[in-house]
Amino acid sequence: MWRAARQLHAALAGRALTRTDFRVPRFATTDLRGRAISDVTPRGKHLLARVEGGVTIHTHLRMDGSWRIRPAGGYPPRDHRVRLVLANGEWQAVGYLLGVVEVLPTAREESVVGHLGPDLLGPDWDAAEAVRRLRANPARAVGEALLDQRNLAGIGNFYKSEVLFLRGVSPWRAVGDIDDLEALVALARRLLEANKERADQVTTGADRPGERSWAYGRPGRLCRRCGTAIRQTNQGAAPNERIVFWCPRCQPG
Ligand SMILES: [Zn+2]
Repeated sequence: MWRAARQLHAALAGRALTRTDFRVPRFATTDLRGRAISDVTPRGKHLLARVEGGVTIHTHLRMDGSWRIRPAGGYPPRDHRVRLVLANGEWQAVGYLLGVVEVLPTAREESVVGHLGPDLLGPDWDAAEAVRRLRANPARAVGEALLDQRNLAGIGNFYKSEVLFLRGVSPWRAVGDIDDLEALVALARRLLEANKERADQVTTGADRPGERSWAYGRPGRLCRRCGTAIRQTNQGAAPNERIVFWCPRCQPG
C-alpha cells in the first residue's frame, strides 16, 4: 500500500483531474474534473487522495484490489473489475476491484481512518502506543492481535508470520504472555521499512525466488533454522480466519 500510494502520488499530485470515473453506485454521478489532487497518502491499508476544495477520495483494496497507472490518452478500460479511474493530462490511475470507494469531506477523514492504531510506516508512528493497544487485550492470541489494524496499522499475513517466526513466538501465545512485545513491534517496523520500496518482500536477506521468507508460503517445506516441516493453518473464527505459517519447533507453545 505504501508503494502504491507513492506511485499514485507521483502520477496524480499537483495536476488537475481531467477525468474521474466512479464505477460504484453511490458515487456514479460524482465528477471532480478540473480540481487538482494535492496528495495521496496511505493510512494502514487505506488510501486517501485529497482533492482541492476539501474533498477526499477514500479507497481500500480489501482482498483483491489493485491499482494500475498508465499513460493518459485513450479511454479507460471497459473492464467490469474497474471501480475508479482518476486521470490527468499525463497519467491515468485505474483502480481494480477496490473494496471501498467513497468521497467525503477531508475534514471527516477521521471517521474512516480514525480507528486505526499507529501506522508502522507513517510519519506519526508511535511504538509505545502500539504496544499499549496490544496489551489492552492480554488474553488475545498474538497472531490475531497483530493483524488488528486498531492496534497498529500495516501488518498483513506475510509480516505476521515472518515476525512471529523471527521472534520464536507461537501465533497462539497470548499477548499478555509476551514480555518483549516492544522488540516484536520494533522488528515488524524494521521489516516493513526495509521492504517498502520493493515489489518482492524479503525477510531472509536472500532476494531469490523461494528464499525470500522464513515461514510464509512454505507449508511442508523444511524450517531454515531447525529442519522441521513448516505448518500452515487458519487462525481465528470464521468468517475472519486468517492464514498463518509457523514452525512448531522454533515457535513452541
Ligand atoms: Zn524451526
